[in-house]
Amino acid sequence: MLRVAVVGGGPSGSCAAEVLAKAGIETWIFERKLDNAKPCGGAIPLCMVSEFDLPDSIIDRKVRNMRMISPSNREVDIHLDNEEEYIGMCRREVLDAFLRNRAADLGAHLINGLVTKIDTGKNRQGPYTLTYSDYSGGEATGETRTLEVDLIVGADGANSRVAKAMDAGDYNVAIAFQERIKLPPEEMSYYEDLAEMYVGTDVSPDFYAWVFPKYDHVAVGTGTMQENQALIKSLQVGIRERAKKRLIKGEVIKVEAHPIPEHPRPRRVVGRMALVGDAAGYVTKSSGEGIYFAAKSGRMCAEQIVEASQGGTRVPSEADLKKYLKTWDRQYGTTYKVLEILQNIFYRNDAAREAFVEMCDDKDVQRLTFDSYLYKRVVAMNPWQQLKLTFLTLGAVLRGNALAPQSYKPVPSTVRSDEEVNAMLAVSSIKGGINASREKREAKAEAAASAADGTAAAAAADSRSAEREPAGVA
Ligand SMILES: Cc1cc2nc3c(=O)[nH]c(=O)nc-3n(C[C@H](O)[C@H](O)[C@H](O)COP(=O)(O)OP(=O)(O)OC[C@H]3O[C@@H](n4cnc5c(N)ncnc54)[C@H](O)[C@@H]3O)c2cc1C
Repeated sequence: MLRVAVVGGGPSGSCAAEVLAKAGIETWIFERKLDNAKPCGGAIPLCMVSEFDLPDSIIDRKVRNMRMISPSNREVDIHLDNEEEYIGMCRREVLDAFLRNRAADLGAHLINGLVTKIDTGKNRQGPYTLTYSDYSGGEATGETRTLEVDLIVGADGANSRVAKAMDAGDYNVAIAFQERIKLPPEEMSYYEDLAEMYVGTDVSPDFYAWVFPKYDHVAVGTGTMQENQALIKSLQVGIRERAKKRLIKGEVIKVEAHPIPEHPRPRRVVGRMALVGDAAGYVTKSSGEGIYFAAKSGRMCAEQIVEASQGGTRVPSEADLKKYLKTWDRQYGTTYKVLEILQNIFYRNDAAREAFVEMCDDKDVQRLTFDSYLYKRVVAMNPWQQLKLTFLTLGAVLRGNALAPQSYKPVPSTVRSDEEVNAMLAVSSIKGGINASREKREAKAEAAASAADGTAAAAAADSRSAEREPAGVA
């Protein structure tokens, strides 16, 4: 019987292990931390709920209103009128545990262990020997063990060890930073079924910042490309500043940072090792979405293994595994391309960002955006819609120049008057998390220093900080 090791117990690994175990294949799934809370906004499309049979208990909030906020604080609501439709907001520790346990219930051997070394055999063709620290005994250091398998699914995220073992090649990464901020119920009520997306140079030079609601807190974060990673904490100060009137009385309960792959790795299958999810590089541009694509790629890769191994009775070849890549690229290649083009056009500068938010006010654009996000289908436009969209884009981009602000202001509170908010802000602000005033001072000093000697500022955030909280957080 075919022996498969799935390294990583996030959405991609768990969904792969589920399919393999169901088919009766001998499957081991390795997860270094069973209560892992992957740094993540936790937004999932509606189609994931039905396709992956997720119970309601996984979803903290059903968002039916996405509020887009432009650099000049123009607010546009993208609203879902159909009560059945929503964007799911979940906590990763809850979602991941559910998917992982389901795979284990179906027969996958769940190992609480960190894979530290992989011997790949002659020409990387296997059999493969994994060395891992087994934490199942409850010891902090773990017990060193080994396991031999015929095939490996690398589902171990952006800092993948499997990718290194198979010499998959590197990819560029963006860095994302997030604070989970607990709010009192009256403030939280505003976020009942609403999420916010902020754009502007103050919150990100090339991406967006978000306030996503969870059951008793909001996840407030931002991201930027690798070349701007030195700015990440000052960008977090930016989103805190813009949203501060809505986050009043908030308390930071968690600070997290993690790299996000910007494109697939040069090699995703080598020998009998296949990468899925973030390890492969399947996060979309523009939206930074990766949970659904991780789950889907894990499932697709595993289905290919089941088919090629004839239910686990033979060892699939490299060519067999590569068929999964072909199916994947055919199904999602256009989506990735379109979202990359959109990011290049609309996140370029504040004028383009103003245009982007203005365009989101159009009902056709809203339906198009929601349909492609919620259902993961590329929606065909009729010629009239295409023409309208072209003129809208051109008009909005031209107008955007006039609208782009010189400076950025906080958005008003929606549950308190301005006087009340100002009085409260005079005595306190968000508790904990990054030290906003220190970050502002350091950003200024770094800018001055790099202007003086012409060198790039040292990276403030460690993009490889993957499995730990970022250094220097208060
Ligand atoms: C701040 C931030 C916000 C985001 N927001 C969203 C969002 O709102 N919506 C969305 O769709 N996507 C979002 N993403 C992207 C999303 O988080 C990822 O695309 C997704 O988690 C990928 O899933 P995965 O299973 O491939 O990898 P991961 O979720 O990274 O899982 C990998 C797992 O492998 C384990 N592991 C790693 N190495 C080893 C090892 N050697 N041995 C054993 N176990 C190991 C890790 O502990 C981890 O549990 C966000 C990303 C970031 C950083």
